[in-house]
Amino acid sequence: MYDIVIIGGGPAGLTAGLYAGRAKLKTLIVEQLVAGGQAATTDLIENYPGVPEGSTGPDITERMEEQAKKFGCEFIMAEVTGVDFSGKEKVIKTTNGEFKAKAVIIASGATHRKLGCPGETEFTGRGVSYCATCDAAFYEDLPVAVVGGGDSAISAAIYLTKFASKVYVIHRRDALRATKVVQEKAFANPKIEIVWDSIVDEVKGSETVEALRIKNVKTGQFSDLPVNGVFMYVGLEPNTKFLNGHIKLDAKGYVPVTSNMETDVPGVFAAGDVTVKLLRQVVTAVGDGATAAVAAEKYIEDNF
Ligand code: NAP
Repeated sequence: MYDIVIIGGGPAGLTAGLYAGRAKLKTLIVEQLVAGGQAATTDLIENYPGVPEGSTGPDITERMEEQAKKFGCEFIMAEVTGVDFSGKEKVIKTTNGEFKAKAVIIASGATHRKLGCPGETEFTGRGVSYCATCDAAFYEDLPVAVVGGGDSAISAAIYLTKFASKVYVIHRRDALRATKVVQEKAFANPKIEIVWDSIVDEVKGSETVEALRIKNVKTGQFSDLPVNGVFMYVGLEPNTKFLNGHIKLDAKGYVPVTSNMETDVPGVFAAGDVTVKLLRQVVTAVGDGATAAVAAEKYIEDNF
């Protein structure tokens, strides 16, 4: 049996693993893909304190993984399919076996939400993408679009200009949500054109994406925008389906936590993007992860 099983190996989970390892607790991180989470698909992170020159997401998260391993944290690649939190010993069911733990930290993060327009599912992998850093290179000298006006969308648009001939940002209102410094970079980039007050009505094409049918929400007019790729960045959705009623979630599926990262089930903690919070960034995720690990350590001391 493990002292702590951490579900998810993004910045929150990796930091929890580092702190649990340093507390000499037998700790396992269960990660579905490679460690690093969403941050590992971020091209440039320039708001992490102490790194004024900025760094790539993979660089920061690989170093976090190395640090967690250095202090004895174990890793397994598996998808968590279910949990049983009914007993004192918690059970985590995965595609790579079942694990028992005295305490659990849920750090399963969030993934990019689907837009839900016609053609989106049909052309996923054939022009519709949710990861600019993964797929940008396919669009060398081709026009692409990004949907959304938040930090993810605008950061992706800036990254895409390294490859694409033109990057249209399609945003449903007349002001961006992204951080001001990110907005300024986008406005200054000659390859980026913002299509204001507009939504994507349909993704069109034959074998691959050829155009977007756009609706201007102010005038009600439709038009076709020829692009070879479209990157959807219309917000996040928490990865909590596997919890299947075992802990309390809010209406959107995020995990409410106390300031000590406790959920409503004793011995089960949550950290990072999966929790109810104002700011979903690496800098807040690592703080959550550290707090969750120390709270879990205290819970184990008091209860086992
Ligand atoms: P977000 O901040 O929720 O932004 C989602 C964007 O999509 C908004 O502009 C929203 O429009 C738009 N949108 C939502 N539903 C839509 C729909 N049905 N049709 C058209 N547009 C729609 O999500 P995010 O950009 O993924 O960011 C999530 C969190 O991660 C934030 O806390 C963000 O700060 C953080 N993040 C930070 C960084 C960074 O600091 N480098 C990078 C990435 C993400 P409205 O503006 O009109 O609501």
